[in-house]
Amino acid sequence: MSHEHTGGRHDSVRPDTLAVTAGRPAKVVDAPFSQPVVFASTYVGAPDPQHTLGYGRYGNPTWSALEEAIGALEGGQALIYSSGMTAAYAALELLPRGGTIVLPGNCYLGVASAVDERVESDGVTVRRVDVADTAAVLAAAADADLVWLESPTNPTMEVADLPALGAALTDRVTLVVDNTFATPLLQRPLELGAHVVLHSATKFIGGHSDALLGALVCRPGDPRFDRLLASRSHRGGVPGPMEAYLVLRGLRTLAVRLDRAQANAQVLAERLSAHRAVRAIRYPGLPTDPAHELAGRTMAGYGAMIAIELADAAKADATVERLRLWVHATSLGGVESSLERRRRWAGELPSVPEGLLRLSVGIENVEDLWADLAQALDGLD
Ligand SMILES: *Cc1c(COP(=O)(O)O)cnc(C)c1O
Repeated sequence: MSHEHTGGRHDSVRPDTLAVTAGRPAKVVDAPFSQPVVFASTYVGAPDPQHTLGYGRYGNPTWSALEEAIGALEGGQALIYSSGMTAAYAALELLPRGGTIVLPGNCYLGVASAVDERVESDGVTVRRVDVADTAAVLAAAADADLVWLESPTNPTMEVADLPALGAALTDRVTLVVDNTFATPLLQRPLELGAHVVLHSATKFIGGHSDALLGALVCRPGDPRFDRLLASRSHRGGVPGPMEAYLVLRGLRTLAVRLDRAQANAQVLAERLSAHRAVRAIRYPGLPTDPAHELAGRTMAGYGAMIAIELADAAKADATVERLRLWVHATSLGGVESSLERRRRWAGELPSVPEGLLRLSVGIENVEDLWADLAQALDGLD
């Protein structure tokens, strides 16, 4: 499979530039600026298939462009998948039968249930930990095979000390970090000791709520990459070329979208924290947040996700009902501001409060976003 799309060197420019430049066709006369969408189920072959694309399940030039861009941003080699969950299942293949996995107490629900399946089928042992408690993570990791971190966590916004954890964990333990909320512009876990980074590129990387796509990224030369590639080629959890194109197009504006979204989030979090209907709030950008100091030290920004807690489920549902600009929806990371009461899902963890609303802040005018939130919350009593 060819991973030498532009063959460009990426070490000399900053991440927000890479988001624009990586994964472009070579700059030759009459070449298009952007990798076109290549619709192909098979390719013209050769007697020795070694360095050929071969078949549509093995490779695609549009995937390669996106893989090069995501890989450059994370500082590794990327593989893309049909969804974040396909990528999560692939990463969980690195956990041996009967092995032990350390999992965040609160994490993406789909990942927790994928791990539960492995408990049933393969007798794996699961240790749930508070990712913000570095000592607890390290204690649980001592004889584990795989440590799965999410930071900030979905939907409760706990932040892990990735530099401390990455430095303390031995290389024997596979460290997987779900970097969906932070994006590679706010933290690059491979540089801190992670072996595999996961993205639901459906969210911030794609950014337009129009395509499902996942990615795994490994450090250059890590044999885990070859295992993951062989498995993906065999199982076929691959994205369509159109999805790869849409997500790459979205990625081009990630830096400016994120700048605007997190500036909006900061303003909204400050105002929400002062609203009488808001019982609790988690946003690392607030000086009062338990993760403020850590996030300030380890991340390049506080992101665009906020969790607020209202008195109960009824108040949270009433708020959602009254909103006009904010969209009530699952998913996150789009240009459109959206929110969701997570406990409306039967499977959501009981540790997530009934009145918790997860806000994904978009790039609209912040005063319009606030006016809508304020009218919905003001009317609660
Ligand atoms: C959405 C999400 C996933 C799953 O990704 P899909 O693209 O929806 O399959 C995994 N992790 C996190 C943190 C997510 O938000």
